Amino acid sequence: QLRPSEALPLFAACYAFFFVAIGSTQTEAMQLLSNRLNGLAAALLGAVLAIGLWHKNIRYILLQRELSRRNEELTRQQEELVWLAKRDALTGLFNRGEFLRLAEAELLRSLRHGTDMSAIMVDLDFFKKINDRYGHPAGDAVLRHTAACLLGAVRVTDVVARIGGEEFVVLLPQTRLDAAVQLADKLLRTLQQSPAKITSGLSIEFTASLGVGSLPAGHNSTVAALYAAADHALYEAKRKGRNRVEKTESDGNLTPSDFQRMRRQ
Ligand code: GH3
Ligand code: MG
Ligand code: MG
Repeated sequence: QLRPSEALPLFAACYAFFFVAIGSTQTEAMQLLSNRLNGLAAALLGAVLAIGLWHKNIRYILLQRELSRRNEELTRQQEELVWLAKRDALTGLFNRGEFLRLAEAELLRSLRHGTDMSAIMVDLDFFKKINDRYGHPAGDAVLRHTAACLLGAVRVTDVVARIGGEEFVVLLPQTRLDAAVQLADKLLRTLQQSPAKITSGLSIEFTASLGVGSLPAGHNSTVAALYAAADHALYEAKRKGRNRVEKTESDGNLTPSDFQRMRRQ
């Protein structure tokens, strides 16, 4: 495709050549003029067609560019949607649904390789009072702060999720109960010692109760049982006065309904 700035001089040069060349072959003046006019008409028509073609080409290129821009935008939006579907909007942690999916995948791995698997449930203490005293936005800031503390304290292979209002869970693949309890103790201290800075003048101290559950190596259990074990331990931590870690010893054969029965006793 020739640009107009190239096509026009080319047509002009061709016509100039034609103009001179036809002069040397024609002697009859009127016929010469007629031929030169015909030549001029052909050259003009050619130039107009070349310019028209050029513009069409430009439009096509611009359209292609716009199409690929919109495609990129769509892909980005799609990735964002996938991210949002898996995340909790307030903290950016995994949401409950994604936690359960990841936990099922980890459970399969743990069954296949015969490894331990633990979980820590974290529930903030008297969180309702924080909301009542400082307002909901400050409460939200405490939740975001908690999320950052938990994420900062675990390994990249651990899964941290927000599963309810002020309830979090940390899933620990290939981790035994005693190691999980150690991590829970560390989390307890981290939360005790790092108040949430809300504004330059306001910093909110808070505590959490943590429950640790575990499926021992060689277990033949379920995510629901692990969840119930950690939840049962959390319940015990609350019952014993909060701001503490409790664990549920389990041989990996207890079912969620066993824990329900234990709670009723
Ligand atoms: P406990 O020590 O027994 O756990 O008491 P608690 O007050 O922490 O527990 P409770 O279940 O009574 O209250 C939880 C509160 O969490 C109530 C609810 O308004 C608040 N909450 C739930 N989701 C959010 C949220 O997204 N943002 C804020 N700011 N508060 C929330
Ligand atoms: Mg609470
Ligand atoms: Mg709660």
